[in-house]
Amino acid sequence: MSNTLSAPPNASPTDTSFPHLDLSSELARHLTITLGHDFTGDSTDKQNSEYLYQALAITVRDRLVPIWLETWKKTCLSEDRKVYYLSLEFLIGRSLTNAVENLDLDEDVRKALRAYSVGMEEVADKELDAGLGNGGLGRLAACFLDSCANLQLPVVGYGIRYEYGMFHQHIEDGRQVEDPDRWLRDGNPWEIKRPEDTRRVRFYGRTENYYDEHGTLRPRLVDSYDVLAVPFDMPVPGYRNDTVNTLRLWKASTTDVFNLSEFNAGSYPEAVAAKNDAEQISMVLYPNDASENGKELRLKQQYFLVSASLQDVIARWVEQHGEDFSDFGRKNCFQLNDTHPACAVPELMRLLMDEHGLEWDDAWDVVTRCMAYTNHTLLPEALERWSVGLFSRLLPRLLDIIYEINARFLKLVDQQWPGDVAMRREMSLIEEGDNPHIRMAYLAIVGSFSVNGVAGLHTQLLESGLFKHFNTLWPRKFNNKTNGVTQRRWLSHCNPGLRDLLNETIGEGWQKDLTKIKELTPYATDADFRKKWIDVKQENKARLSDLVVAETGVRFDTSFMFDVQVKRIHEYKRQLLNVLHIVHLYDRILRGETAGMVPRCVLIGGKAAPGYHVAKLIVKLINDVAKKVNNHPAANDLLKVVFFPNYRVSSMEVICPATELSEQISTAGKEASGTGNMKFMMNGALTIGTLDGANIEIRENAGAENFFLFGLDAAEVTELKKDYRPNEIIAADEDIVRIMNLLESGHFNPDNPGLFDLLTSGLRNPQDPWVTIADLRAYIDAQAEVGKAYQDVDHWNQMSILNTAGSGWFSSDRTIQQYADDIWDVRPLS
Ligand SMILES: *Cc1c(COP(=O)(O)O)cnc(C)c1O
Repeated sequence: MSNTLSAPPNASPTDTSFPHLDLSSELARHLTITLGHDFTGDSTDKQNSEYLYQALAITVRDRLVPIWLETWKKTCLSEDRKVYYLSLEFLIGRSLTNAVENLDLDEDVRKALRAYSVGMEEVADKELDAGLGNGGLGRLAACFLDSCANLQLPVVGYGIRYEYGMFHQHIEDGRQVEDPDRWLRDGNPWEIKRPEDTRRVRFYGRTENYYDEHGTLRPRLVDSYDVLAVPFDMPVPGYRNDTVNTLRLWKASTTDVFNLSEFNAGSYPEAVAAKNDAEQISMVLYPNDASENGKELRLKQQYFLVSASLQDVIARWVEQHGEDFSDFGRKNCFQLNDTHPACAVPELMRLLMDEHGLEWDDAWDVVTRCMAYTNHTLLPEALERWSVGLFSRLLPRLLDIIYEINARFLKLVDQQWPGDVAMRREMSLIEEGDNPHIRMAYLAIVGSFSVNGVAGLHTQLLESGLFKHFNTLWPRKFNNKTNGVTQRRWLSHCNPGLRDLLNETIGEGWQKDLTKIKELTPYATDADFRKKWIDVKQENKARLSDLVVAETGVRFDTSFMFDVQVKRIHEYKRQLLNVLHIVHLYDRILRGETAGMVPRCVLIGGKAAPGYHVAKLIVKLINDVAKKVNNHPAANDLLKVVFFPNYRVSSMEVICPATELSEQISTAGKEASGTGNMKFMMNGALTIGTLDGANIEIRENAGAENFFLFGLDAAEVTELKKDYRPNEIIAADEDIVRIMNLLESGHFNPDNPGLFDLLTSGLRNPQDPWVTIADLRAYIDAQAEVGKAYQDVDHWNQMSILNTAGSGWFSSDRTIQQYADDIWDVRPLS
């Protein structure tokens, strides 16, 4: 570590009243002494803000560390129940500004930076995003940790320290190109390596039976290939509450590079290369959002995370309680973020039985008391299944255990539905066939005491659809926990203008307790307040406009409506529907039918999975349509379109405060919850959306009159699919005929005719799973309503204020309080 504590040698390292110099002196000392930077006083020196970022990060970290050590010690020593949030993804973003605000150091930092003639924003901008996640699922994990720290709950996050996080996206000739994300290139001041807590994770090998010291025949794994898991801890600061929780990320490392006994003297390079092999496990995040993968390395990552984390918790348990596990299930809880860590069920069985001598029934009792599973998707292609063949090679002992879990489970199924062979086959943890697979969601359900969906509709659909038989068997296992986002990052930090306005209007309490935002409601009808509200939005639009022109060269006019859709590119999210509307506006402009048309800047952003051909083609289409529109003189005063490259947490922090219209237009029944929708609502955007995921709850909380609803609901989509005839819908609607003509005539791709045929034929296909054409007319009409509403400035801003005022429910503090009360049964650390 480059950092040194400024502690006198005899000071207790966990003394939170630790003596600090003033922040300016510490910053100066770190800049000069720790980093060896000779500050020239030349403020045009580009290196300065880079060094200042590093020095400031270390300075702020110095303030976190004593509190962090104290919280860790308190958590470990507590006899109350603790929670471990297991997730393959944590989409953290930046840490510096978050820590500064949570420690209330904002003023001190600004004062200290004045000596170097740079602003806080410029320095903060030097931090690379920690992008250890794909999208919503990973960002949720990060918001949850923030809320756990805010609520002072004893929760530890466990994940993987990917050397390469989410890829960087750049656009070349309208197409997505991926670049590796070397986020650790300049070191990471926010992590502390803990080699003393290194764990050993065992792959391959075979199961062998042996007689233990009591003469009992027991199975064990032998001839395994072992990898070390080295933990790196990241701080999770609470909001001004003397709490810093921990996110523990595992890095894979070889067991012993220089153990060459197995190699002859000539194979030294091969022996060293073996190190590489082990370290591959934590090398790169899989860039697939909501899609199944099936690659061996991915399964290795999952097991690596799970085994290291469970061993870590067990080691601390044994240190305190010895080998008595009778209370382990009551005092620990593992929340599985989707099925990615579902190996935790058989792995905890293995550890308890093979390593700690428990019998099956006792071990199963422990496991089913402490595992809880969160489902995140209804898309069948995203339900994880692992081939039995792969499992038997990579994790043979775990497969034995899964078979035994299944055998016992199927007995239960037989008791409930005697003699029903079809039911057995349907519910089995093993999908039979030529190439049998393990159904990870079923494994997670059987092994958990709680199964939750992430929005009201999503949970209903799980209970009545995907998991209906399990719901019949165990109705009390199933529960809903509607997602949320942290208002500290997604309102207070990212929208300082609105933060200040809220503070002067309703006080500061909302930052810790967002239910207080309701107090904003009466101000919707206050003309003076609305004026300030509009000014804040205009400032934010100007800030985004600067970013857009820097990123794309396109100038957004801040008097236009800012219409935004940012999220992963996926067919179910229907960026195509948005494009069809843009083409409709463009078509009207070409025909001079612009009466009543409100000028818009449309921004679309998001990454496509590198192997998802259709999604990448959608990116190309958006770019080609944007180019055509932006270069047409007649469109100049009415429409601008950009594809915003490399959408990530730090760009959302600029985008959501500036957004006026939030596009949440997924096919009903497909988006489990969405959380982008919540960030926009908090920042006063109005939503145009379907009755999908948390949109339903957003509409209820904002008031139906303050939400632009359109399209089929989930039941209607299901019904329509029995007899869907998109070509008839197109033919019957002149506007849609013209839209399709523009797309199919090669108007946007004259040099490459046929390029988008895959997309247009998909829209026309009666089997189109996303029924885009079915919702198009309703969408166009709802967009016209939006335009009309936008022209009534007073009313629009009234609706905008009521959206923010109604957003209290969507704080992840509320979500986490519900997890704590209903699932985890944990209380704040005293
Ligand atoms: C919030 C967020 C998401 C999730 O967006 P959805 O619209 O809910 O899919 C994805 N990526 C980033 C960077 C986010 O901040």
